[in-house]
Order: sequence, then C-alpha cells, then structure tokens
Amino acid sequence: MLSAAEGVHRLSHWVNGEAIPSDPVSEIYSPSDTDDLVSRSPSDDGGVVDLAVASARAAQPSWSHASTEARADVLDRAGDLLLANRETIGRLLSREQGKILPEGIGEATRAGRIFKYFAGESLRSHGRTLASTRPGVQAQTIRGPVGVVAQVTPWNFPLAIPAWKIAPALAFGNSVVLKPSEYTPAIATLLAALLDEAGLPNGVLNLVLAGADGARALTAHPDIDAISFTGSQATGAAIAAVAAAGQKRVQLEMGGKNPLVVLDDADLDLAVECALDGGFYSSGQRCTASSKILATPAIYDSFVDRLSARVSGLRVGHALRSDSDIGPVANERQFEKVLDYIEGARRAGGRITAGGHALRLATPGHYIAPTLVVDTDADMRINREEVFGPVASIIPVESFDEALELANRGDFGLSAGIVTKSLSSASRFQREVRAGLVMVNLPTAGVDYHMPFGGVRRSSHGPREQGFAAGEFYTELRTLYTRA
Ligand code: NAD
Repeated sequence: MLSAAEGVHRLSHWVNGEAIPSDPVSEIYSPSDTDDLVSRSPSDDGGVVDLAVASARAAQPSWSHASTEARADVLDRAGDLLLANRETIGRLLSREQGKILPEGIGEATRAGRIFKYFAGESLRSHGRTLASTRPGVQAQTIRGPVGVVAQVTPWNFPLAIPAWKIAPALAFGNSVVLKPSEYTPAIATLLAALLDEAGLPNGVLNLVLAGADGARALTAHPDIDAISFTGSQATGAAIAAVAAAGQKRVQLEMGGKNPLVVLDDADLDLAVECALDGGFYSSGQRCTASSKILATPAIYDSFVDRLSARVSGLRVGHALRSDSDIGPVANERQFEKVLDYIEGARRAGGRITAGGHALRLATPGHYIAPTLVVDTDADMRINREEVFGPVASIIPVESFDEALELANRGDFGLSAGIVTKSLSSASRFQREVRAGLVMVNLPTAGVDYHMPFGGVRRSSHGPREQGFAAGEFYTELRTLYTRA
C-alpha cells in the first residue's frame, strides 16, 4: 500500500497483481498548490487494456467459485484497512483532488463502510422458488455473476465511486477492470494496492491509468460483459452507444441540475443550511449539488440576504489547512468552466450577491470565491446546465406550483429538495418532482450507502447503484426448472 500521502507517487497500470511499467508522462499537481507534484502516471493505456481484460477474464471463474465467505472476508479486510488508514488516505485524496481534509477523511471512511456493507451483501444473494404451473416441476430463480465488468469513474469522489462500483462487483463474483479519472490516479492506485493487501486474488481487479482513449478502448473491448460509468452526460451518451453496439449490459450515472425549493412556511435557518451544504460543500462538485434554488415571495428577500452572508463568510483555502471551509476546484478545466458560467450569468442579468471571481491565495491553486447569483430566471444558461462548482443561483417564484414546474424543467433528474413545514406540500413534491432522490428538509446532497442511488431522465440509465439495489446490475438472473 502507498504508505504516505506526501511525496511524488510514481504510478503504473496494475494487471494480474503486478505493476506494468510504462513511460510516466502525465503529471498531476495539487489543485490547492500547483507547485506540489502529486504523481507521475501513464497518460495512455499503451495497449495494456487487452492484458487487463484477459487477466480479469482468467481470474473470474475461480473468484466466482470461491465461497461467499471467502469473498466476504476479502471485502471485510479491505473495509478494515480503509477505516484504519483513513487519515493517511484522506490526506492523499484531499491533496490530489482538493476537497478539504475532513471531507477526504470522510470519503475514506465511507469507502471503508461500503466494503464492509458489501462483505455482508455477498452472503445475501438470493433467488426465489415458486410453485410451477406444471405438476411435479420445481421453478426457481438464482443469481450469478455477469462476468468481466469495465468501470469508468470521475474525479469528484475519486475513492467512494470506485468503492461503490468495485465492492458489489466483487461481492457477487465478477472481476473488474477500472479506468479511474485521469485527474485522480493516485487515490485509485491506493485502492487497488489496498485490495491486494486485503488478499484479493491476482487479476480479479485490474487498473488501467489513462484518459478518454483508454476508456474508449476498454468499454469497446469485445470481452467486456458489462460497463458501469459515472461522469458527465456527454460521455455517458457516448458510452451508451458503445454498449448498444456491443450488446453489453450498461449502467450510467451522470450529471444533475438539482433544484432546492424553499417555501414561505420554511424554517429559514434550516433552508439556509440546506442551501449552503448542498450548494457549496466539496466546492459544489457533487452530482447531487443544489444549484438551482427556487424561493417563494414572502421569504425571498430575507432568504437571499441570509444565504448571501453565509456564502460570503465561507473560508476558501488549501485543502489541507484546518481553517478552510472549502478547497479549490479540482482542476484547471473546471476552473475555466466555472468562471465562464459565472461571467455568463452576470452578462445575462443575474445579480451576484457573493463571490463572482477567482481568488489568489498564498499557494497558487484553482480557487474560486463561492458565488451566489440571485434574481435569475429559469431560461438562463446557469439554470439549465450543470455548473459543477461553488456556484448556486436563485430564481424567484410566485407559488409552490411554479416552483414544481421549474424544478421539473430540463433534461436532468438526479436529486431534488424542498424546505417546508407543510406535510401536504412535502408529500406532493415527493410524488410529483421528477428526480431519483427526493429530500425533504435536507440538502439535495448527502445519501446513505445502504440505499439505492440514481436519477431519472438523462441523469441515469440502467439499474440503480449502491445499497441493496446494487446486485441487480452485478448479477444475472437465471430461471431453473427441475422435474423432481
Ligand atoms: P467525464 O465524463 O469527463 O469523465 C468521466 C470518466 O469518463 C473519466 O474517467 C474519463 O477519462 C472518461 N471518459 C471521457 N471521455 C470518454 C469517452 N468518450 N468514452 C469513455 N470514457 C470517457 O466526467 P468528469 O468531469 O470526470 O466528472 C464530472 C461529471 O460526473 C459531472 O457531470 C457529475 O455530475 C458527474 N457525476 C455523476 C455522479 C452520479 O452518480 N450521477 C456522481 C459523480 C459525478
């Protein structure tokens, strides 16, 4: 296992339990300090995809035939290692990705809990026995592994997302080739090393460090049975086409434009906390971030004033400093993109009541002042597209009905929240808002690891991830008939 969070990590592809040497041509610098070199890693797959898929194919039968207890033990040990080393792991994560240290440690903790949860789930894969329509015949279903799974992941939860894909895949007897984000290769490598230390047999998990080309080669590989992807909507659409052409099972988790509705009867303190947490923590780089806030007339001005003051008060700083509330955005591409959205909103007539600009701090990094844009309308670009940064906008609405109508506008449908004391408004929202996750008096972001996760419309495609629902994607249902 990588023992330290500090220093320059020299990373390699990981195939069949071995590091595959290749030219280290891609350099990743910390977004908190662009003078701090975190890793050198292969920038393309260099043909290693074929090896990785072959290794996963060779290892899968014996892994799936291992006893469920043997598989559970490996996952449980991986969970223990993640939890025992969460400080070091969280430190490397925060240094590489830019989220503040408590969030980095929190993500390591979550990954540990996910592995321990799926250790238990591997013992709970069950089918059904039904009375047959034919006398003397027994009708049953059983669940078996799908085979070799390609997993392609983003940089915003660089440990938790690989964890919630790898853990169920392994629990149900599949083997995996992971292509993590090219922006966060060190934390993905650490996870692979940690599973090796936990006793995972060689070849069951393989790691290809590459960019989009490597991901394309992997997902299009003819010997891949299933693809699980998390990332942007555009990439998801490209992967869906590859999966359809190859007739592969596919699961896509993509972006969001998550509405938070604040009604006149809301507890305003709670509404401000929900908007602050959902919109700005993790620098707003959560697929479930609240980015489109809809507020009704009686509370509009005081909500805007209070939220503006709280957003202005957030301390932006180096991810590893204890006085930082939020860190930088994760990379230069995000930095440019987020500033462009802010400028666009300003030009379109939005009133900026907090932030609105980049920040220069003691270390050179991708820092953006947390930004609130108010008095916007639903047709502005900032309210139609996913910003994925420390930016939220507020749209004034006349009524609950208008809020619901605007919450449901657009292509996305991941998470939606409402702050209200009215049971009837809350329950109508739960039934009528078009989102896979619905939050009442809670931020739109923040979920439990034992519950299904996913959206509707263009936010998700295929079976749900996580919790008790994860087995649906990672197992195949077979129907057995037996004459006794
Ligand atoms: P991205 O789509 O740019 O990249 C994600 C992964 O796909 C990376 O590993 C990348 O190398 C790979 N990739 C890029 N082009 C590809 C192609 N043509 N074919 C195959 N793979 C390709 O996304 P990102 O910028 O890394 O992540 C941010 C996005 O992820 C946001 O849209 C966010 O909402 C989304 N996200 C969604 C969820 C969810 O569960 N719904 C969770 C986290 C992040």
